[in-house]
Order: sequence, then C-alpha cells, then structure tokens
Amino acid sequence: MVINGECFCGKVTYRIDGKLRNARSGHCSRCRKAFSSQASAYAEVAPDTFKWLSGKDLLTTYQSKHGFGLQFCSQCGSTLCGTYRGDIHGVTLGCVNGDAEIEIGMHIFVGSKATWEMMPEHVVQFKEGPPV
Ligand SMILES: [Zn+2]
Repeated sequence: MVINGECFCGKVTYRIDGKLRNARSGHCSRCRKAFSSQASAYAEVAPDTFKWLSGKDLLTTYQSKHGFGLQFCSQCGSTLCGTYRGDIHGVTLGCVNGDAEIEIGMHIFVGSKATWEMMPEHVVQFKEGPPV
C-alpha cells in the first residue's frame, strides 16, 4: 500500500510504500511534551519504504538521549517522524493522510497520564511500558 503524509503547512511531505506497524499511544509526561497533546500517536515504519517527497530541507531534528530523535517542520511546527541513530524509525499518526489501515494497538504509560485525560473503556492499556 501507499501511505502519504504531510505537516500542517503542507510543505513537508512523504510517501511510504508499505505498511505501518506497531501503532501505539504513549501517555507519559515526556510523550505529552513531545507531541504537545494528551498522548503520542505513533507507528513504526521500515526505513527502506519511507521517502521524503518535499520540504526535507525544512526539517529540524531534536535529538534526545539514547539515539532517539524527532523531526519537525521548521515552518509550522508539526512533528512528522521519529528517528533512531539518524534513520527514520516511525511516523506520527497525526500527520498521516487518509486511511493507513492501522489501529492503535495499545496505550502505554497510562499510569502517568495527565489528570485531565479520560481514557476510553475497552482499550488495551498498560500502566507502564508493554510487557516484554
Ligand atoms: Zn509545515
């Protein structure tokens, strides 16, 4: 399948020739800050299926510890993807266009969610990370 995504202003666009996998939502304070939201919504992508179509020069990278980073549009601020040691690791689901035929399979770090967030019933959730 082909999946397209773009930032809020539309200058940064990408294409994935393949499927997203391992979609999850992280509710800890770090995910909330990184995604400016109640939680992250993120799925992994195989690096060889991912390609920037436009605006790659507008990307800014925030490098965090342990090799993980985030890339966002310097024009509009949308966070588009996560990186690991410089390679694409996954995409933020909010920037994916259309139906990527994926569902968030688990909600993690729900034990440290924001006090104001109401979790939906019947979702798979873990107080901390998923069991190994
Ligand atoms: Zn943008």
